[in-house]
Amino acid sequence: MANSIHLLPDHIANQIAAGEVIQRPASAVKELLENAVDAGATEIKLIINDAGKALIQVIDNGKGMNPIDAQNAFARHATSKISSIEDLFQIRTMGFRGEALASIAAVAQVSLKTRQAEEELGTSVVIENSQVSETSPVACPVGTNISMKNLFFNVPARRNFLKSNSAELKHIIEEFTRVALAFPEIYFSLTNNGQDVFHWEAGSFKQRAIHVLGNSYQSKLVAVGEKTDYLTISGFVGKPETAKKTRSDQYFFVNRRFIKSAYLHHAIAHAFDGLIPKESFPSYILYIDVDPSQVDINVHPTKQEIKFEDDKIIYAFVQAAVKHALAQFSIAPSLDFSLDADIQQLDAIQKPATDEQRNSTASSSLYAGFTQKNQAHFIPRVSESERQEWKSFFSDLPTAEGVLAQPDNDSFIVKSSSMGLYKATEGISLNEDALLLQVNNTYILAPAQNGFILIHQQLAHERVLYEKYQKASVQPHATQKSLFPVVLELSVADAILLEEIIEDLAIIGYEIEPFGQNSFIIQGIPADVISGNEKNAIELLLEQFKHFSGDIKFSKREKLIRCMARQSAIKAGQSLGQKEMHTLIESLFACDTPNVTATGAPTYIDFKEGYIDGLFTK
Ligand code: ADP
Ligand code: MG
Repeated sequence: MANSIHLLPDHIANQIAAGEVIQRPASAVKELLENAVDAGATEIKLIINDAGKALIQVIDNGKGMNPIDAQNAFARHATSKISSIEDLFQIRTMGFRGEALASIAAVAQVSLKTRQAEEELGTSVVIENSQVSETSPVACPVGTNISMKNLFFNVPARRNFLKSNSAELKHIIEEFTRVALAFPEIYFSLTNNGQDVFHWEAGSFKQRAIHVLGNSYQSKLVAVGEKTDYLTISGFVGKPETAKKTRSDQYFFVNRRFIKSAYLHHAIAHAFDGLIPKESFPSYILYIDVDPSQVDINVHPTKQEIKFEDDKIIYAFVQAAVKHALAQFSIAPSLDFSLDADIQQLDAIQKPATDEQRNSTASSSLYAGFTQKNQAHFIPRVSESERQEWKSFFSDLPTAEGVLAQPDNDSFIVKSSSMGLYKATEGISLNEDALLLQVNNTYILAPAQNGFILIHQQLAHERVLYEKYQKASVQPHATQKSLFPVVLELSVADAILLEEIIEDLAIIGYEIEPFGQNSFIIQGIPADVISGNEKNAIELLLEQFKHFSGDIKFSKREKLIRCMARQSAIKAGQSLGQKEMHTLIESLFACDTPNVTATGAPTYIDFKEGYIDGLFTK
C-alpha cells in the first residue's frame, strides 16, 4: 500500500499557520507595527486603504535589513530575535516567533523596500504566494517600508468573513492605539484612504495617554507609580468620574506588551470599590515592568495572554498601587489595605515617599490641585460635596418626571377612554382612578377588574420608550434645540462610532454635527431628554451601543433604539408619584406589545382573582 503521510508544501503550511496569527487586517497591523518597534524606529507610519482590506503599509525609520535578511525574513520561523531556548526567557522584543511575515506573505501580496544605514542602496523584494518573485537593488530611505495588498485574496472564505470597513477600522485603531500607548517615545501616524486619522508626536506617557483618550482627560488622570525590586508599576487610572458602562479605555501592559487579563482587571476594579457604581468600569492605562524571566509570553499565538511566575503577588501589588494612588490624591474616601502580609511589607506601602519622589511628583502639572501629603494615611477624607459630584454624575439621567410627564408632545399616549378604563389588553382593564401602590420603589401594584397586576416600572418604561423610538423611525421624533450647544469631545474610537450612528440618532431626535477632530456639537436632543444632560446621555448611549455591536442579529437602528430605551427608562429604585405611575401604566397599555420588553422580559405579571383565591384555599 502506498504511504499516505507527506509533508505539506511551505505555502500551504504557512497559510494554515497564518490562520492563527493573521485573523483580520488588525492582526497584520499589530505584527507590522511591532516589527517596526523592534527595529528601533523612532517614527512609524501606518497607511491603510479600505480598513486594511485593500492595503496595509508600514513605513519605519528603523535599522532596516540587508539584502539576504530581506528575503529570509519571509521564511517560516525566520527570526533575528532569538537563537536559543534560553533566549526565550529573556525576551525584550515584541516579536520572537518568526511567524508574522511568513503568515502575511501566505495570505496577501507583499512588497518590501528596506535599507540599512551603512548601505548605499536598499533592497526591494516582491512576494507572491509565499515565494520571493523579485528582488532588486533600489534607492530608498534607511528603514523599512512594507506593504501588503488584498489581504486573503487567496482565501475567499476568510475574506468573506471580514466585517464592514468601519468594524475592521475599529479593530485596527485598537491595535494601533495599544502599540502607540506602549511606546510614547515613538512618533506614530495613521492614514486611512488618504485621510489623516491621527499623528501622535513622540512624548511622555502622559502625553500619549491624552492623545489617545482625548484632551478632556488632562485633569482626569491620576498617576500610579510604585517600584520594588521585583516589579515596577506606572501609568494612570482615570478619576472615578471617567468610569464607563463598558470596558473601553482599559489598557494593561507588561514589559510594554498589551495584554488581556481578567484577573488583573479584577484587581484594579476592586481598588475602585465604593468609588464608582457597581457595573461600571474604571479607565486605566497601566504598565508593569518585570524581569522577563518572571513571565511566559509564549502561551498564545498573538501574545495577548501571558503567564506570571507568581500572579498572586502581581494581583495584590497592582491593587495596592492603584489604591495608593487614589488615596494619595484624595480620591479614595478612606484607605483600607486589607492585603496580604507580602504586600503590606512593600516599600511603596510601608515607607513615605522620598524627597526626590515627592519633588518629581509635585513638579508635574497633573498633581496641581491635589493635596501634597506623601503618606496615604494622612490624607484627609474626600469632601462630601466632591463625593456628591461623582454620585450625581451617574444619577443625572432623565428623571421619571422629565421623561414621563410631557403629555404635550407625547402623541403616543392615548387618552383614556370615556369609560374610565385604560385601553384593554389581553383582557386587562384597569380602573383609571385607582390608587396605585409602589412597592420597594420598583414595582407598581395596580388593581385590575378581576384581580391585580404587578408592573415592573423599569421594564415597563423600557417597552414604552422602545415603541416610541420605533415609531420615530417612521415619523421623526421631536427635537428640542439646545439653547447652548454642547461640545462633545470623544476618544478616536468613540468618535468613529458616533459618526456611524449619527443619522440614526437624528431620527430619534439627536441633532449632532461633527466639529473637527473627534469633537461634535450637540445642537438638539430628543424632547424627552432633560437638557443639561445631553453629554452624559450620548456618552452612555455609545457605551451601551458597544455592548450590542457584536450582535449581528439586529440592524443598527434596532440596536440603537434598544439602547435608547434601556438608557432612558426610569430605573428600579426610583420613587414615583401617583401621577407618574398613572402615566406610565397608561402609556404601557397603549403599546402594541405591552407585556414584554424588546428583549423578552415580562413587563408585568397578571394576578387573576381565581388564581389568588386558589392560593388561599386549604
Ligand atoms: P519576529 O518578529 O517574530 O522575529 P517576523 O516574521 O515578524 O518575526 O519578522 C522576521 C524577521 O524579519 C525579524 O526577526 C526581523 O529580523 C526582520 N524584520 C521584520 N520587519 C522588520 C522591520 N520593519 N525592520 C527590520 N527588520 C525587520
Ligand atoms: Mg514580528
